Amino acid sequence: MTPQTPRYKHYDLGRQPAGTVVEVALSSINNVRLMDERNYRLYASSQAYRFLGGLTVKTPTKLIVPANGQWHLVVDREGLPKLANSNVRTIQPGHKQFRVQEADAVDPQKTRAGSEIGAPEQPASEPASATNGEHSPAVMGEILKELHQYKRIANTDALTGLSNRRAFDEKLASVFATGQPHMAALVISDVDHFKKFNDTYGHLVGDKVLTIVAEILHRHAREDIFVARAGGEEFVMVIEGRDPADVLRIAESVRTALEQTPFRDEEAGADYGSITISVGICMKADATDAKDIYSKADSALYASKKGGRNRCTIFDADLQAAS
Ligand code: GH3
Ligand code: MG
Ligand code: MG
Repeated sequence: MTPQTPRYKHYDLGRQPAGTVVEVALSSINNVRLMDERNYRLYASSQAYRFLGGLTVKTPTKLIVPANGQWHLVVDREGLPKLANSNVRTIQPGHKQFRVQEADAVDPQKTRAGSEIGAPEQPASEPASATNGEHSPAVMGEILKELHQYKRIANTDALTGLSNRRAFDEKLASVFATGQPHMAALVISDVDHFKKFNDTYGHLVGDKVLTIVAEILHRHAREDIFVARAGGEEFVMVIEGRDPADVLRIAESVRTALEQTPFRDEEAGADYGSITISVGICMKADATDAKDIYSKADSALYASKKGGRNRCTIFDADLQAAS
């Protein structure tokens, strides 16, 4: 039996300090990743959103080493022939200026054989061969600025400008990860009969509904209130340091603000009626982890829908018993 060709190939970059920029110059390639020795995948590229979206990466791709250690580049086999003819270099931060290490074109023959993602890694061998050059700190600043921008894009919902699901998942995980007994609540809001808006007036009007809901939620966002669009017509708030009565008051004020906002297109003279939301709330104290609080807030939301919509329900012992 012929051994299967591994899907990925690893290129050792050697031991690199945090902040080192690895530039991979390729004509086009899928899936270039920077990995540490434990094979943790890092989306540390200036093209991060392309990685996240799984799209083709354009040249040159810059990846920033986030911590000191042994690093390697992992390339999808599709891109291998291109990488073989490409240029990989590391730009390292210095005191006043950055030293550029210009690597020779990476020769796959000289690097160790590729291995599957998840397979145990050998300790990396020698760094890619390099010659010295110079690079201005301004370039490093530019790269970091660019990285920051892409991070923002990766965490933002394109339609509403609110935080997206990815940012929300991180936020909720952090609420449980801190290990501090601070108060927190998850509030899920779902637009009532939203399908009707789409079906009756079309998707563009449906999208407009979503932006109106987002605007009203955004007005409530502040330091202790995180707001995101979790997907579709579902919006979430993570409220910290408030007791259940306060949380309920905030949720009610969003619900009533929306209910009282006329939804019409003045120019077209179209009146679309009112938008309402149903809300489900769960306090952190009533949940064990992020998954649990989501599921409990969701069952409270379901109770709001079942109870006639346009209302807020907080998860409690009765709901617990019913579920
Ligand atoms: P309920 O009151 O029970 O929540 O009913 P609903 O009609 O709001 O719920 P349902 O889940 O049946 O419909 C949700 C609809 O949301 C279906 C889907 O086509 C639509 N939708 C999801 N994302 C978007 C979007 O980004 N834009 C638009 N216009 N519609 C979307
Ligand atoms: Mg829904
Ligand atoms: Mg709905």
